[in-house]
Amino acid sequence: MDTDKSKEQRAEQRAEELKAGGFIPQRQRGKITVRCKAPGGRMTSERLAKIAEVAQEYGQGLVHLSVRMSPEILYVELSDLDDVVRELEEVGQEIASCGKRFRVSTACGGCEYNPNGWTDTQRLAVQATDRFFGQETPHKFKTTFSGCVIDCPRARETDLGFQGMVSPRLEDEKCTNCGICVRVCRDEALTMDAKELPVRDADRCTSCGDCIKSCPLDAMVPGRTGHAVYVGGKHGKHPHVAYPVAQLVPDDTVMDVIEATMDWYRQHGNTGERIGNTFDRVGIDGFRRALRDVVGDGLLTAEDLQKHGWRSVFYRGLADTFPQYGALD
Ligand code: SF4
Ligand code: SF4
Ligand code: SF4
Repeated sequence: MDTDKSKEQRAEQRAEELKAGGFIPQRQRGKITVRCKAPGGRMTSERLAKIAEVAQEYGQGLVHLSVRMSPEILYVELSDLDDVVRELEEVGQEIASCGKRFRVSTACGGCEYNPNGWTDTQRLAVQATDRFFGQETPHKFKTTFSGCVIDCPRARETDLGFQGMVSPRLEDEKCTNCGICVRVCRDEALTMDAKELPVRDADRCTSCGDCIKSCPLDAMVPGRTGHAVYVGGKHGKHPHVAYPVAQLVPDDTVMDVIEATMDWYRQHGNTGERIGNTFDRVGIDGFRRALRDVVGDGLLTAEDLQKHGWRSVFYRGLADTFPQYGALD
């Protein structure tokens, strides 16, 4: 028969095992926070209801939404760990993770329902989490998916961030030369040509897609869509901005980008070193070379980063401090 002591001992052992999981000791002795998995910040109402029920029964009826979109059940007794996990499992609710590994991917609404989105961020966040969640890396490894250049989920501050982009294309025969798209483009990437048709300066374009959304006749349409890839970002005590390394990467290449980045990081990163700091130590061109095998001509060059389209989406003054991207053999 279980004594209180043996139950407590088992719980402590379980907590050690699951530190790799999403169990965070609280400052209150014997209490833990249970972090639930929610790729892209989305979950069914059934799972949400179960989390609320568990918080009521085993916690203090409190759930905190973490900065990275995970619902956290607060004030759970360490000794109730197994019961909490079992109850959550009844509706397929899994536990998230902490520590040196691939974390649950975050994402905005993306093109599924957000009017600004160009990429299916939600689907990709689930796909990435299903495939890589929990895999070990030299330090924590966070990924995020933004649907557009507004970048609400902050791809530019993440270990590996994907940000939706679009190349607009004009269907001349539908255009009535109204000039709305030219006025809407805040980057002055569109001008009217001699035939009164809008012409795009690709070097100035930030791939935001505002011209497409503003055209009343659907004459400006999406050409290519894909992802800008940022790598090496983090916040925290010593923040580090991410470097843009590729553009217009198609959906079906995204998982390969993640895999190649994690492989490179495992080979070159020191234990306890975030990937941005690894770049600071060993340079970024070795990684760019590995990434080129995956993204081909989507790889960004030093010249690309000098163009208005890129410089205007960096944090103020930052473009001048980026490492020089070398020519790759
Ligand atoms: S990043 Fe773009 S698509 Fe995503 S929530 Fe923000 S505005 Fe919408
Ligand atoms: S996508 Fe944005 S930056 Fe590019 S031409 Fe259209 S409005 Fe201008
Ligand atoms: S808004 Fe549409 S119709 Fe008007 S100039 Fe631009 S592409 Fe042509």
